[in-house]
Amino acid sequence: MKPLPKQGGTRLATIPKHQIFVECACGHKCPVPVPVLIERWGDLITVGEAIGKLRCSHCGLKQISEYRLIYQGGSWAAMQGAEQGQRKPPPE
Ligand SMILES: [Zn+2]
Repeated sequence: MKPLPKQGGTRLATIPKHQIFVECACGHKCPVPVPVLIERWGDLITVGEAIGKLRCSHCGLKQISEYRLIYQGGSWAAMQGAEQGQRKPPPE
């Protein structure tokens, strides 16, 4: 078993450009952008508290087995836009 990273005391407000990649005990994996968590629970919440509150959208249980903080560097919005913006016009 891998130990959880010791970042549980970090306030989400200090890492607004990260996302938390969470893995449930059922195997479901999902990246959660930090701003989404702040919007839901306020900016005083810490990483550890958010992990404790997160409920798996697949099995509905709170049993996060692992999590990782991933730095987005502001490219989150750009990536979202890029995915939709790369469609080429149909050939005439
Ligand atoms: Zn699950």
